[in-house]
Amino acid sequence: MATWIDGKVVDNIHWHENLFSLKVEAEIEPFTAGQFTSLALEINNEQVARPYSFLSSPGQQPLEFFFYVATDGALSNALVKLNVGDKVMLKHKANGFFTLDEVPASRDLWMIGTGTGIAPYFSILGSKEVWQRYDNIVLVEGVRSSRDLPYQNLIEKFSQEHPDKFTFQAFVSREDFPNAIKSRIPVSLGDGSLEEKVGLKLSPADSQVMLCGNPDMVKSSVELLKGRGFIKNLRRKPGQITTENYW
Ligand SMILES: Cc1cc2nc3c(=O)[nH]c(=O)nc-3n(C[C@H](O)[C@H](O)[C@H](O)COP(=O)(O)OP(=O)(O)OC[C@H]3O[C@@H](n4cnc5c(N)ncnc54)[C@H](O)[C@@H]3O)c2cc1C
Repeated sequence: MATWIDGKVVDNIHWHENLFSLKVEAEIEPFTAGQFTSLALEINNEQVARPYSFLSSPGQQPLEFFFYVATDGALSNALVKLNVGDKVMLKHKANGFFTLDEVPASRDLWMIGTGTGIAPYFSILGSKEVWQRYDNIVLVEGVRSSRDLPYQNLIEKFSQEHPDKFTFQAFVSREDFPNAIKSRIPVSLGDGSLEEKVGLKLSPADSQVMLCGNPDMVKSSVELLKGRGFIKNLRRKPGQITTENYW
């Protein structure tokens, strides 16, 4: 049985009407970067719970989460209304295998996400291990418009701390935005435009690829990568693709 504990909201940052972040103080068990917990609220006398990746790194307080407000979504529409001082329930113990323990060592690490699917990467990038294990780290975020790209200060910090190792590449599908690719991630994995823009080749010999967020993006990207010789990473048979679907 999962143990639920009470957390206290200490900040609710509304990036725009359907994108927000919560900072929550809670005494949870230690977690591994890339894992998720569940958050829950009482809605109409029922406990409504959903999984959410930690955006904050292990050991950081307050805990931080990054949310999309889903159309007619029960929990995200309630979480966005929380005020400082409000209570939110969390699972005491984190879950999940979207962590570096499950990703083999290699020269390059590609962290590819759509929208809020970038959250676990921030958690991983905020920990020391990833910088010791990989020579090149490429963070890729696919969004519809440039206003869906908050956390640029964090990206800037990683770029400044690791100028020879770290590259960020945005995909903005519905508008022209400086330095962004105006396309979809799977298309760009197929036509080579992501690699050309970043200046690094994807290859099964040198690359590990993490994919997180929209299941259509994950599925199409996996298919394209498989066509290029990549295989899914399993404990009994290590490969190069590790995935997390958000729905
Ligand atoms: C392992 C895991 C980690 C997750 N981490 C996050 C996270 O860090 N941030 C986050 O916002 N969500 C995350 N989700 C999704 C989250 O659990 C909920 O599904 C989401 O908040 C919607 O819940 P809801 O009750 O509002 O709507 P629901 O009725 O449960 O969902 C409505 C619909 O919204 C869409 N949807 C769900 N999540 C998203 C999303 N993130 N972006 C765009 N569309 C979405 C889907 O089409 C879904 O069918 C995660 C899911 C999983 C499985």
